[in-house]
Amino acid sequence: MNPLRPDTQAVHAGREDLTALGVHAPPLDLSSTYPLASFDAGGESLDSLLAGGGPTAGGNVYSRAWNPTVARFERALATLEHADGAVAFASGMAATTASLMAAVMRSGGRHIVAVRPLYGGTDALLDSGALGTTVTWCEAKSVGDAVQADTALVVIESPGNPTLELVDIGAVVEAAGEVPVLVDNTFATPVLQNPLDLGAALVVHSATKYLGGHGDVLAGVVAGSTQWVEAIRPVRALTGGVLHPFAAYLLHRGLPTLPVRVRAAQAGASEVAAWLAGHELVAQVHYPGLPGGDPEGLLGRQMRGPGAMVAFRATGGAAAVPAIAESVRLFTHAVSLGGVDSLLEAPAAFTHRMLQVADQPDADVVRLSIGLEDPEDLIADLDQALRSR
Ligand SMILES: *Cc1c(COP(=O)(O)O)cnc(C)c1O
Repeated sequence: MNPLRPDTQAVHAGREDLTALGVHAPPLDLSSTYPLASFDAGGESLDSLLAGGGPTAGGNVYSRAWNPTVARFERALATLEHADGAVAFASGMAATTASLMAAVMRSGGRHIVAVRPLYGGTDALLDSGALGTTVTWCEAKSVGDAVQADTALVVIESPGNPTLELVDIGAVVEAAGEVPVLVDNTFATPVLQNPLDLGAALVVHSATKYLGGHGDVLAGVVAGSTQWVEAIRPVRALTGGVLHPFAAYLLHRGLPTLPVRVRAAQAGASEVAAWLAGHELVAQVHYPGLPGGDPEGLLGRQMRGPGAMVAFRATGGAAAVPAIAESVRLFTHAVSLGGVDSLLEAPAAFTHRMLQVADQPDADVVRLSIGLEDPEDLIADLDQALRSR
């Protein structure tokens, strides 16, 4: 059979064992521990788990090492990201942390190269040196110059958060040479972009966002080759940032609608962005799908569509932002993104507040996560908010 198409994979991936189990919906396994099949077989399974592999016939041993509900979500996400495997975590930050630790352990180097803008938490984690790493910040085109003999990992994000610049992932991979590249694919989702196909070693998601999609799960996941998965799983078992099986169940339940959700939200975002661009009280709109929004021509080549995140600057600058944020009624004034309902926030004041002021996005930028409402209703809400001041 031909490889299944992505929309079909989203519905069926990670469900391969259900028929043999005699069930139709994935079961939710809340066990913290598991019966050991025998003294020797249990020990053998634990050996496999400690080495970063899956359980053998001896049993799952302990849920910090292996949980079947979590493993089904991981298999599904790995399929969608064209990866050998995936490792799920309690949050996106836990996934990034474990990836950094695995990269340092693998290479012995403690130097990270990273391209701004990044998600505020990732930026702060790298800048703080909390994991014993040092960071060189650079532009995407200077990655080759920034890489050193002890560089363990290159970290990028595309589209960038919050102003949605597209970074040429393939060009960064080439410039990084032997150094592995980690791509945060939270904004694009596997529906619109597959960084591993472009040569990235690792792809990370805050599954809290589009993968969860309903604003009720905090989670993260990293996908890559078998070698990377076997390096990252032991870090998760050692540091304990595991995903709760109920969260994995909800994430897996949401994956079949991921392509439909992303495409519908993207269609709405395109309408909202075009309307904002023509508004008398809007000075600038950041959206890859607008004229000039994709100077390197990466839409179509790297990313299959412009996505559902939009940023804009109102006339009146930063002083106009609080009134707009407090005047929306249909949008929720809140951080996070990627859910079925639309959110609005000012990155400098919230998602990127923990950064040094010089490293923050401009204070006049307003970020929108467009959900599944009728775009006409979203436009009416933004119009009254823009006119409220
Ligand atoms: C939210 C977010 C993260 C962090 O994920 P959490 O699940 O909140 O820990 C990382 N990267 C991006 C792009 C995000 O939007």
